[in-house]
Amino acid sequence: MNDSDRDQPGAERRRGIRSYVLRQGRMSVAQKRAYDQLLAQYAIAFSPQALDTDRAFGRHAPTVLEIGFGMGETTAAIAHAHPGFVFATAGVHPHDGAEFDPNRDPDAIRDLVRGGAVAIGECGLDYHYDHSPRELQRRAFAAQLELARELDRPVVVHTREAEADTLAMVSEAGRAGVRGVLHCYTGSHALAEAAIAVGWYVSFSGIVTFKRWDDDALIRLVPDDRVLVESDAPYLAPVPQRGKRNEPAWVSFTVARVAAARGVDPSVFGKMAAANTARLFGLPLAWSES
Ligand SMILES: [Zn+2]
Repeated sequence: MNDSDRDQPGAERRRGIRSYVLRQGRMSVAQKRAYDQLLAQYAIAFSPQALDTDRAFGRHAPTVLEIGFGMGETTAAIAHAHPGFVFATAGVHPHDGAEFDPNRDPDAIRDLVRGGAVAIGECGLDYHYDHSPRELQRRAFAAQLELARELDRPVVVHTREAEADTLAMVSEAGRAGVRGVLHCYTGSHALAEAAIAVGWYVSFSGIVTFKRWDDDALIRLVPDDRVLVESDAPYLAPVPQRGKRNEPAWVSFTVARVAAARGVDPSVFGKMAAANTARLFGLPLAWSES
């Protein structure tokens, strides 16, 4: 992501392999209850903010790409408990690049992917916060792009104020067959175009609903079959919920804003973005009209 609302160092930030949750479909009431209980149970083991505990899904987006993080094994366990609804990813965030251990972490990520994680990430480069030396961020990112190629899994890429290096590394990986998404994207048109040119996707978050957002041309330059929308919860709650702890259900506001910028119907656009999400991550597409 790319906003000061999040990625601040905080007590909930943990070192090591992070894991993210992708969730899709509408759960039954009983499934939601079981999911919430499971999250509450695991919340004891890490921050209650580490994963989303929302109760509803977005009106315009039957499939929600929900990103929350915890330690790899925990998210993997939650994904296992909810097959078809919750999917995990695994990776080392650029903030933790300095602690990336090339002898240990690739095997840990391989194990999580073998156990069902659908993507590598978040990984990437963050030269805004510079929590880790840039050279070490690049080392961790390069290793994870290579893992993505080896394991044939997509990559969720975080990039902030690191345009030239991200462009070079994504382009090279893309030419080698790696697919991925620039998540929570607010960067340059040039980087988006370079990623799209090698088959990648671009994902927008609640930032596009903020008053200071002024780049609808960026939203429009992403082709229909490459655009994603995400919550990036618990951060970046979209207007009119800005400032609150984000809930995936509110991704509807972002879907509506992106659809408006593109001049299309939000429900049609939401389904398209959901189909793109399912295609990129190899998820079964679970439609539920209600
Ligand atoms: Zn991010």
